[in-house]
Amino acid sequence: MKIPFALDGKGRIVDIHDVPPSVEGTFRCAECKQLVTRKQGDARVWHFAHKAEASCTTAFETALHILAKQILVESDTLRAPALVCQLHEQPSGEDITLCVEHTLRWDVAGEAEVWVDGIRPDFRGVCQGETIFVEVTVTHEPDRPKLEALKRLQTPALEIDLSAVPRDVTASEVRRLVLDAAEGKCWLFYPREAEARARLEALRNRRDAAEYASLDEVYREERRLDAALNAARADAITDRLVKIEMANARFRSATSAQKLAFLVTKLGKPVTAWPAILGHDVRGGSAIKVSTRIWQADVFRRHILRRRARNPNQRITVEAVADWLIERYDIASSESTSVRVAVWDYFSALEQADYLRRCVRQEFEILWDVLGDETRVPSSDAKARASKTAPLGYCWARGDVDTSRFWSAVRKTGVHVAPSEATILLNTWQEPGRRMSNEAAYAQSVATTLRISVEKAVELLAAAGVFVRAVA
Ligand SMILES: [Zn+2]
Repeated sequence: MKIPFALDGKGRIVDIHDVPPSVEGTFRCAECKQLVTRKQGDARVWHFAHKAEASCTTAFETALHILAKQILVESDTLRAPALVCQLHEQPSGEDITLCVEHTLRWDVAGEAEVWVDGIRPDFRGVCQGETIFVEVTVTHEPDRPKLEALKRLQTPALEIDLSAVPRDVTASEVRRLVLDAAEGKCWLFYPREAEARARLEALRNRRDAAEYASLDEVYREERRLDAALNAARADAITDRLVKIEMANARFRSATSAQKLAFLVTKLGKPVTAWPAILGHDVRGGSAIKVSTRIWQADVFRRHILRRRARNPNQRITVEAVADWLIERYDIASSESTSVRVAVWDYFSALEQADYLRRCVRQEFEILWDVLGDETRVPSSDAKARASKTAPLGYCWARGDVDTSRFWSAVRKTGVHVAPSEATILLNTWQEPGRRMSNEAAYAQSVATTLRISVEKAVELLAAAGVFVRAVA
C-alpha cells in the first residue's frame, strides 16, 4: 500500500516529499509501527511502503489523523466557519448569525488528546479565555458517539472533515484544509444555537399558523359561496315546483268541460275524433277523480305526444307517470297503488294499440307519439294471436305508397275497403313514423279495421307495396 506519510525517528509525521533521498533516517508506519521503506524513484509517485505485504489497511487514515492533530498543535491560529441559523432553506432577513467566518488565535499553545469528562477530543484550544474543542474526521464513518458526547460538553466544538481527501494528498494541502479553509468544517456545538433554532422554529410555526388561518378563511369563504349557490338553486327548483303546482291547481279547479277544451287544444283533435285508446276502461281508475277520458288524454298529452319526435330513445315508466298523476290530480297517497295499476293497464292498452312497447319491467318505449284513429283497442287475445300469426318474412317497404297501386291491390285481393277506411290506411302509410311499429301488430290492426283475417291483411299490404318480403 502506498502511503504519502510516515512517522520519522522523532515520532513526527512526515511527508515523503519533505525527506529527500539524500537525508538518512528510519521511518515507521503510523498504524502498525513497522519499518517502511521510501520509494522515491522516477517512474512512480513517491511513497512509503511496508517491507512485507502487510495486512495494514488503515495506515493512511491513521497517518492523516495524526498529521492533522500535529498541525493543530503546532499552529497558533485556526480558521473557523460562520454559523448562521436559517429560517428556511433559502437565506432570509430573519436568519440568525451566531458567528461569522473568523480566525481563532490561541491564547496558549493548544493540546491534543486531553481527557475531558470521559472523552478525549482530538484538540483543545483556548481563545480569549474560551475553550474550543476540535475533532478531526478521517473516515467516512465518523465516530458518532464521540461527536454526540462533544455536543454535550456545552463548549464550542468544531469538526474538521478530512474523509474525502485523496490518498496522494500532500502535507501542505492537509495543512491548508486543517488551518486555513472554512469548507469541510462545521460547528458540532455552539453556544445559544439551540435557543436561536427554537426562536426560528417558533417564528416558523407562528407564520404557518397565520398562513393556515388565512387559507382556512379562503376555504370558509368558498364554502359560504357554495352554500349560497345551493340555496339559490333550491329556490329556483322551489319556484319551478310552485309554478307546476299552480298549473296543476288551475287544472284541478277547472270544470270537466274546461279540462276537455284544454286537452282538445293540446291534442289538436276534437273529442269526437279521439281514438278509442283515450277513455279505455282500466282497473284502479276510480282512484283518479276525473273521467277516464280526461286523465288518459292528459297522460298522453304530457308523456307521449311528440315525445318520440323529440327523442327517439324516450322511455316512460309507470312509476313516474303515476307520481305525476298523483300530484296533478291531488290524489291521496293511500291510493297510489290503485293509480299505478291504472297506469299499468292504460300503458298495456297503449302497447296493444302499438303506441308503446314494453322494454323492461315497468319501462316502456314510445313507438307512435301522435293520436291515431283506431276505433277500438285490440284485446290482449287479439294481440297474442297477432304475434302468433306474425307475417314472418315481411317487413315495411321503403318509399311512398301510391293510391292507384293500393286500389289495384284491393281489387286483386278481393278485400272490401270502404272509401273512409282507404283514406285512413293511405294517410297512415304516408307517415314514416308508423313504419317503426311491429309489422305483426300493424297487420293485426289492419285486419281488425277491415274485418278480415291477418293473412288476408298481409296479402293486401304486400300487394299494395306497404310490406315487402324480407330477404332471407
Ligand atoms: Zn502499517
